[in-house]
Amino acid sequence: MLTMTPLRDDAIVLRLAEYSETSQIVTLFGAAHGQLRLIAKGVRRSTKTRVAAGLDLLEYGAVGFIPPHGDAQLGILTEWTQRDAFAGLRREAQRLYGALYAVETVAALTEEADPHPELFTALEHALQTLAGDTPAGPAIVRFQNALLQAIGYAPNLTACVNCGGDIRRGAPVFFSSTAGGLLCRDCELHFVEKRRVPPHLLAPPGAGSAEAWFELLDYHLTHVAGRRFKTAAVLAGALGRGLPKSV
Ligand SMILES: [Zn+2]
Repeated sequence: MLTMTPLRDDAIVLRLAEYSETSQIVTLFGAAHGQLRLIAKGVRRSTKTRVAAGLDLLEYGAVGFIPPHGDAQLGILTEWTQRDAFAGLRREAQRLYGALYAVETVAALTEEADPHPELFTALEHALQTLAGDTPAGPAIVRFQNALLQAIGYAPNLTACVNCGGDIRRGAPVFFSSTAGGLLCRDCELHFVEKRRVPPHLLAPPGAGSAEAWFELLDYHLTHVAGRRFKTAAVLAGALGRGLPKSV
């Protein structure tokens, strides 16, 4: 018996999964509520006849929902009004995969009942930018940074996180996710988990291709999440093909 008044939020569709022939489990990222896992009944995706509510991946809309109560694991979607489908994403692989990567990482690195309004804004902005005409690579890297900031894992990229020493130009520099940032040549020996930072990436400021930054931040995000992201390899390939590399 549903006597609760549905709650409302603005949300972005992170994931869709079949539940039964006519139901889906939808994972949304709500501006005020954070991640929401809801059952959407009466959705017939196979015939495209959407009886009660039809949702597409990556779209932005207004949601009405009843949160899980009692023993229920899932809330119930009661209403969905699409506001933006970000149609421009479908024009290019790096735009589409950039968007898919963004929603995959948000789904993996946030939890239910864990609101991040600032991350919602960053995600919506990323989707809008990717659907537009400005280059995709920098938008994806900006989003990775915003996500790391929001979940409290922003890496230190200004000094050695172990000794505090300056990162000298020309000297080999390493990045360790466990350590939380850069390691100088003297300190890297003490860390098992690390990777070499491409020499051109850190100096001068703003140097480094979006592809190289993407790969470094993806390495960090992968480590934080404890697993690889499905869309990362395709996206790295698309960025590598589509953007000029700095030297
Ligand atoms: Zn050091």
